[in-house]
Amino acid sequence: MKHLVVFTGAGISAESGISTFRDSNGLWENHNVQEVASIEGWYKNKALVLDFYNQRRKQLQQVEPNEAHLILAELEKDLKVSIITQNVDNLHERAGSSSVIHLHGELTKACNESKTEVVDIAYNDIHPGDRASDGSQLRPFIVWFGEQVPLMDKAIETVHSADILLVIGSSLQVYPAANLINYTRKPIYLIDPKPQLSHRDVSIIPAKASEGMKYFKKFLLEGN
Ligand code: NAD
Repeated sequence: MKHLVVFTGAGISAESGISTFRDSNGLWENHNVQEVASIEGWYKNKALVLDFYNQRRKQLQQVEPNEAHLILAELEKDLKVSIITQNVDNLHERAGSSSVIHLHGELTKACNESKTEVVDIAYNDIHPGDRASDGSQLRPFIVWFGEQVPLMDKAIETVHSADILLVIGSSLQVYPAANLINYTRKPIYLIDPKPQLSHRDVSIIPAKASEGMKYFKKFLLEGN
């Protein structure tokens, strides 16, 4: 079976109603990204950061996977499909995809301050004063700006073994994740209505994720 590796960004979840931050002038749900998604922001105002992710979890409970997520899951009938996502939502899993690497963490998990202990919290809130077993403040299990990306090596290995690399809805501006496209010599495709990339080896499908995936599936399975 051919190995399709898919690298997804915030754009794949846009049609489910979760906004990207590049499309709203660098604000993420009306917040300065540095305030809510950086390690400095966490040390500056833990209550604000906890509240922000509590809201993201509530929102996640109210949205559904869209056609792009569903087609990716369906493709497992015909191909080996590995997903590497920058998204912290769980829409790939809820669509039925079985192999998902979350490079930037997961909303439905929490961890201690040193990130050595991870627990499932589903859609529950984390409050100031909630403690991990080592006594530190429980925090969202998210990779913030300024933090290591522990799954990067696993992601690179996955991209190395790809026959085809498909990128969906990523501005490819967030590093080191954006470097992943440089780890394969196989064909690379990008589905994005406003692609911000002029890499000579990338074939661009300028469409929203669901339309782009319908086209890509046909192209892949029927060769047209
Ligand atoms: P980004 O916000 O930097 O870029 C989003 C890209 O998606 C843009 O290129 C845009 O043109 C494209 N896009 C917009 N609507 C689309 C659609 N309907 N279909 C396909 N593409 C569409 O996103 P990024 O590159 O993923 O980086 C953002 C960072 O923010 C990530 O690290 C991620 O963790 C975090 N984030 C996550 C979520 C989520 O989990 N759903 C949402 C917002 C931000």
